[in-house]
Formats: sequence, C-alpha cells, structure tokens
Amino acid sequence: MDIKRDEEFLAGRLNPPVKSLKVKSDKFFTIGKGTKFAVICPDAAAVKLVADSAKQYWNVDVKAAAAAGDAPEAEEGYSIRITTASVKIAAKTLRGVRYAMFTLRQLVESERGVAKTAGGGILPCVHIDDEPDCAFRGIHLCFFPPPETDYFEIEREIRLAAYYKFNYVVIEPWGSLRYPSHPEFSFPGHSLAPGEWRHLVKLAKELGVTPIPQLNIFGHAAAARSVTGKHAMLDFHPEFAPLFEPDGWCWCLSNPETRTFLEDLVGDLFDIFENPPFFHLGCDEAFGAGTCALCRRADYPALLKDHLIHFGELLKKRGARPMVWHDMFVNRDDERWKGYVACGTPDTVSILDDLPKDFIICDWRYNYRGDDLKGVEPTWATLRHFIDKGFDTLGCPWFETQNIKGFGKAISKYNAYGMLETTWHYNRGYHMFQEFSIAGWAAWNPNSTAPEKSLATNHSAFNAHFRQINHDMGAKTYEEFGEYQYQIHGPFYYEPGC
Ligand SMILES: [Zn+2]
Repeated sequence: MDIKRDEEFLAGRLNPPVKSLKVKSDKFFTIGKGTKFAVICPDAAAVKLVADSAKQYWNVDVKAAAAAGDAPEAEEGYSIRITTASVKIAAKTLRGVRYAMFTLRQLVESERGVAKTAGGGILPCVHIDDEPDCAFRGIHLCFFPPPETDYFEIEREIRLAAYYKFNYVVIEPWGSLRYPSHPEFSFPGHSLAPGEWRHLVKLAKELGVTPIPQLNIFGHAAAARSVTGKHAMLDFHPEFAPLFEPDGWCWCLSNPETRTFLEDLVGDLFDIFENPPFFHLGCDEAFGAGTCALCRRADYPALLKDHLIHFGELLKKRGARPMVWHDMFVNRDDERWKGYVACGTPDTVSILDDLPKDFIICDWRYNYRGDDLKGVEPTWATLRHFIDKGFDTLGCPWFETQNIKGFGKAISKYNAYGMLETTWHYNRGYHMFQEFSIAGWAAWNPNSTAPEKSLATNHSAFNAHFRQINHDMGAKTYEEFGEYQYQIHGPFYYEPGC
C-alpha cells in the first residue's frame, strides 16, 4: 500500500483541510450498531452529540462513551484516533467534538462492493490532529427578500457554514425582516415575521455558529442593491423621506428622528439575535452622504463621528462589539490605496483616529488588481493600515479563488483578527463553492495544499457535502438539490456576467 497516496486522497476530500492526517495501517474501522466511539471532553454533552451525530449521518446506533485522557489545548481543536476496534475523539470543548464529527462525516465511505447500504460505513485507520488558524471565521450572508433568497436556501447556507467550520455568520436582512418596531422598513409581501428569523438564530446556535445581525446606519440605507433602484422604505412609504438624504441612499445624520428610528431597529435586532457579541453597522459606500439642506451646512465630520460613537456605545452597553466596513475610512484620492477599495473623503477619513478601538474594521477586497498586478500577490496595504492603527481587522474576500486564498494567507501572516467571507448576490453554483469551500479552507488552514493534491476536484467534494446538508434538511424536490435550482435556465439560474 502506498501510504502517501492514501493520505493525499483522504486529506484532499476534507474541507476545510485538516492540519495533520496520518494513515496508520491499511485496515478500516466499520461503523455499525454498537461500534465503539470513545469521547474525551470535559463537556458532559459531548457523548450525546457523538451518538446523535452518528445516528444522523450513518443511520446507526453506535456505542459512544466518555473516556479518560488528555484533550488538545486549542479551544476549537480536536484529535481523532481510529483503530479497527474504536474511534477515539478528544477535544477541549463541545465545538471541538462537533468539528471532529464533521471531519469523520467527510472521511467516511459507504460499505464497498455492494449495490445498496442501509447505513454505517468504513473509516480508515488514521490519526488526525486539527485546529484553526483564525479564531474569527465568519461568513456574511444576504437574506434578500424572499423568494429571491428562499428560506430553505438561507437555512442551508447557515448549515453549510457550520459544516465548513465557520464560527460566525453575519446575516444582512435587505428589507426581508419585518422589524417589530418599524415593519414599514421592509418590502411588503417579500419579508418575514421576526419569529422566522428567530428560528434561524436558534438553528445557527444549535449548530455551533454565532449569528451576528447587520444594520446599515450610514450608507446603503435603501436596504436594496443600488443598481436595482429599489428602497425598502421609500418605495412604499415616501412620507419617511426626512430620515434620509435627498436621494435616499444615506441616512440623514442631522435629523434626531433618524437616531431614534435606528435605535429602535438596533433594539429589535438585539432581541431577535438574542444579545449577539458582535453587531455589524455596515457603513460602506456612503455615497451622497451629507448632501441635504441641514447636513451640507453642518460640521459633517463632527456629525458622523458623534453618530458612530453613539451607536458604538449603545452596542457596548448591550455587550456587543461594533463592526464596520473599511472603505469610508480610506481616502479615495490617496495614492497609497490605488487598486484597493477606498471610498472615503477627507471628511469621513478624518474621524478614524477618534473611532474607539473596540470597533472592528472589515477590510474588503474582492480582486487582485488583475491587469496591473498580473497575478502578483498584493501587499494587502489597507489590511495592514488598519492593523497598524490598532484596530482588530477582518479580511473580507468574495468569490475569486486566488483572492480568497491570498487573503487567508495575509490574515495569518499579519495576525489579523480573522476572516469575514462575503457572498452578496452571487451565492449559487460555482461561486457558492468558492465562498464556502475555498474560504473555509483559507480561514481554517490557509497554507494547506491538500485540496490541490486530491485527484477528485474539491468542487466535487463540495457537491457531496452539499448533498449531505440537503439530506439533513429533508430535501425532496429537484429544485432543492444542487447549487442551482435549474441546470439550463429558470428563475434561479445564474447567467454569468449579470
Ligand atoms: Zn441630512
């Protein structure tokens, strides 16, 4: 047996790739009724988690039992030791045990050489030791007004995020949440009641992922993509125009009613998200800020500073750290940021030094500079700028594979706070594979080359994992399976280039 080849096949099917996988013999452990799973974990819920997961994944009642021994030091780390007699899992936390089970689910093969199987499977006799590079591994999900984002889809995205060992999901409502305090700030007929959102929050927590709400308190006030011209408030309620700048894109910061309105929304989100530890305030692409009759004659930097500090303090009082996108805090005319995303003006950039350091800066960059750089690694200048300024900074890629991988390595190299992968309106098909699979890899183990050495493409591994999640959700229809609803065209087929 060629052990190295075996190890490459096995490591290459795991996502995110594990830190260490060693094949110890050519034998297998057979998962079946009563087979032994030994669990070393101080958390009393760990044994039940293993037994329940085995039942769910492989349709068997294994014999899971607590065992004595040392667990790995890392908070989210775990080890797996497989012999022909047992599977031994060790972890310091329940999350580590959950991650070990996710890895086993990806490692297993169904019984070989038969036509059909009722469950169970075989596991190779391997030793796995694993822990993440990044402590903060987030993915930003957009809940566009249903059915543009179907409820089934957003739930599946949360399940997939958990499966790929992301530990945070930021969920941006885009007018799809009927806020209890202001239901008028949502699209009629295309929004969900708070109870349905609460269900998502509970599900995420059960899966070991912490949900984070987002409310844009500066630009993106329309809660709709700018190119569409839609507006979650003004389309159906033009009487609320005073809360916004004249074109509707930014909130009017001179109007005290704006603050009251936004405070109500923040309160709703705290309630629905069960007092989250982080809260995303948006603040990107605030074009047309400060243009109304009051704002344009005011000391706008002072207004903006007061606005952000006010909401930062409000969140702090409730136990959450604020997160903001970076682009308004770097000057668009500054040569240093050529090739990076910089939307700021001298007014907006001037407040950065007064921004409290509990603000987390989300530095987004979606492409290498392409033609300019010709594939050469960028210097990640904005990421380093905010780190140098003393901010906890997240690197935020989108769907470009090279960009995601490079960002992951830069986050590790410059000791950034972590990654917040984005998905936006390209969250189906191959993009989805990149955003979940490649980003999960880049956040957990950015320097691994294991997926590249696998003979199967890691996209086909993703497809298999995606199918498992669909089975967990009880998918029944043609449209529910697969990363597009239709193969050729249909309401949710994505046309490249749109
Ligand atoms: Zn104004």
